[in-house]
Amino acid sequence: MRHFVPGNDKIVIDSKELQKLFDVLLRHGYTTIGPTLKDQAIILDEISSTDQLPAGWTDEQAGGTYRLNKRNDDAWFGYVITPTSWKPYLHSPAAKFWSAKRNGRGFDVEEDKKEPAKFAFIGVRACELHAIAIQDKVFYGKEFQDSAYVQKRERAFIVAVNCSVAGHNCFCTSMETGPRVTGHFDIALTEIIDGEHHYFVAETGTDIGAEILREVSITPATEEQVQQAEKVVVKTESQITKLLDTTDLKNMLARNLENRIWDTIGKRCLSCANCTMVCPTCFCTNVEDVTDLSGDHAERWRKWDSCFTVRFSYIHGGSIRNSTKSRYRQWMTHKLSSWVDQFGTFGCTGCGRCITWCPVGIDLTEEAAAIRQGEKHVAVDDEL
Ligand code: SF4
Ligand code: SF4
Repeated sequence: MRHFVPGNDKIVIDSKELQKLFDVLLRHGYTTIGPTLKDQAIILDEISSTDQLPAGWTDEQAGGTYRLNKRNDDAWFGYVITPTSWKPYLHSPAAKFWSAKRNGRGFDVEEDKKEPAKFAFIGVRACELHAIAIQDKVFYGKEFQDSAYVQKRERAFIVAVNCSVAGHNCFCTSMETGPRVTGHFDIALTEIIDGEHHYFVAETGTDIGAEILREVSITPATEEQVQQAEKVVVKTESQITKLLDTTDLKNMLARNLENRIWDTIGKRCLSCANCTMVCPTCFCTNVEDVTDLSGDHAERWRKWDSCFTVRFSYIHGGSIRNSTKSRYRQWMTHKLSSWVDQFGTFGCTGCGRCITWCPVGIDLTEEAAAIRQGEKHVAVDDEL
């Protein structure tokens, strides 16, 4: 994996020069993925031009709510966060392992050995860099490695962008994952619109980041420009109001597996699995074998799955987690408790997507707070 080498010098890239960054990355063989407007949302997609960025648009998010609004400027990265993350590009929603063709009484098996894509991600937020680092522990650990993930991850080029606006559902400050970009990038940008001047204060994080930037026109940043970039992040941080108290959170949830709150959530939760699909760290999969009708051709696929489906916990004869209550409890306690035992960090970066895209607006920060509050009441009652 590439080493993070923080650049000492802050530089300025004029907005007109950002197209050159796209061009250089394309010339180096990258498929450039970035934010763009589609289906009344700011989504991630393959883009090759700054004209495709969501200029002048932002997103408003709340529990179960997402809508686009016009900004009063033409910022390209002036939105909170996209509905889906970078996860599908590194951990494919559906990946073919092998196919088999009948050959007489047997089968010829052919492994799927496609050349891995070489992605350049443009506009990665701080919480998303942490999400990628969390998935690295799952797929790129010392003990077990997923070769498809590793190959794509090794080749990925990351252009991070500091957040200039926070949403109602962001709680990265609680998870210590944002809003400031602090590492794991090749180039980091802060977007500034100062009257007529639209530019980016940039820094490099790796040698390859510096190499790519050498082909783009840059100027050294003035002290004032560095200060302006700093103000952008400080302002964003001040907008974050959602909190998740992480004090003893892992143990608190482990102590409360029989709390009655799970019954209440179980009655609200639709078990739709939206939260796991949009989450940048959820990684569960299922393996499916499929054949054509003739029985001459078979394939093995790995597909994203979710702990919210009944079949996910199916083992010889039945599902372990039959109730919605048990499936929600599994998900939330994994994210915020047992993940720490497995990987040494929380499985949550505070991006807020699961809150925005939950059709009934279930909010894990509120549920954790309610459990904590319940414990306080019990403690007070015990004292009386
Ligand atoms: S659990 Fe929710 S807030 Fe946390 S990383 Fe996943 S989607 Fe984001
Ligand atoms: S918590 Fe919300 S998004 Fe997740 S499965 Fe339940 S209803 Fe769906």
